[in-house]
Amino acid sequence: LRGLPVGRVVIGVDLGGTNVRTAVLNRDGEVLARHKEATNVAEGKEKVIARLVAFINGQREFASREGHSVAAVGVGSPGVILSEKGIVVKSPNFPDWNNLPLRQRLEEALDLPVVIENDANAAALGEQWLGAGRRIRTMILITLGTGVGGGIVLDRKLWSGTDGMAGEIGHMTLFPDGRQCSCGNRGCLEMYASARGIVMNYGEELEKDQVPQSDPRRNYTAVRIYDAARGGDARAASAMRRMGRHLGIGLASLINIFNPEMIVIGGGVKESWDLFIADTRDEVRKRAFAYPAERTDIVPAVLGDDAGMVGAAALALRKTGLA
Ligand SMILES: [Zn+2]
Repeated sequence: LRGLPVGRVVIGVDLGGTNVRTAVLNRDGEVLARHKEATNVAEGKEKVIARLVAFINGQREFASREGHSVAAVGVGSPGVILSEKGIVVKSPNFPDWNNLPLRQRLEEALDLPVVIENDANAAALGEQWLGAGRRIRTMILITLGTGVGGGIVLDRKLWSGTDGMAGEIGHMTLFPDGRQCSCGNRGCLEMYASARGIVMNYGEELEKDQVPQSDPRRNYTAVRIYDAARGGDARAASAMRRMGRHLGIGLASLINIFNPEMIVIGGGVKESWDLFIADTRDEVRKRAFAYPAERTDIVPAVLGDDAGMVGAAALALRKTGLA
């Protein structure tokens, strides 16, 4: 083991707006313990940080009882993260977190090295280490949820960008005068390939056919739209196919730029895979260069909610030189 201490482990944390997931992992990626508890964002910043510290200490005590020592902690957090500086600039899930030096706060409280990363970037590394991208060196994760996130792994290394803000795949412009995005730009991929985008697509289909506002379909969620499409609703099927095409336009650009081995698609919208993927692949074939388009595997993510936590652990291992 090249002289490294035996029994050293890391703690991976996925700090979500709803739940905090923590796990103890060893250098082989074995999960030795896991824990999930409510984040309780409404209690405010200080209490959330205190609970986070308590969860991590709980895992550290477990590790210690098992004869392991914790080498470092990795944290994946939603929002705009300056990972190099360890600062959460802002986060839609934590409204009172502005320029919070989270890494420093945790390092002081824990007396351990801490690495902070955007949750989607961490998830990309998680899928590359233990998920769909095992044995793959260069892959891109795109998560299709309420919004669209992503992460880029180049030659087994997470590409975080100069400041740690890379991988914002959801905010590439598809349409210069398109739908208004929450980021301030118009026509971002996120407004077309997310659950919200699917709802908007379906709304446009209903509008086109002058379906009255009082019709219950006007209030369908994305999941109801998947069900409707599978049940033969042509407008719902069309809304899903348009989503697939728009996703394909985005993926074609990524393929031309990165020539990846694999693109992994995660997030809740993945459950509607059968309703959009054929159109996505068609669009990729039409728009990307033929060779990279053919060789890029487009596959579903496999780690689900564990991806961010696992990737955060991978970052902690690398920070301490254990991986
Ligand atoms: Zn945007």
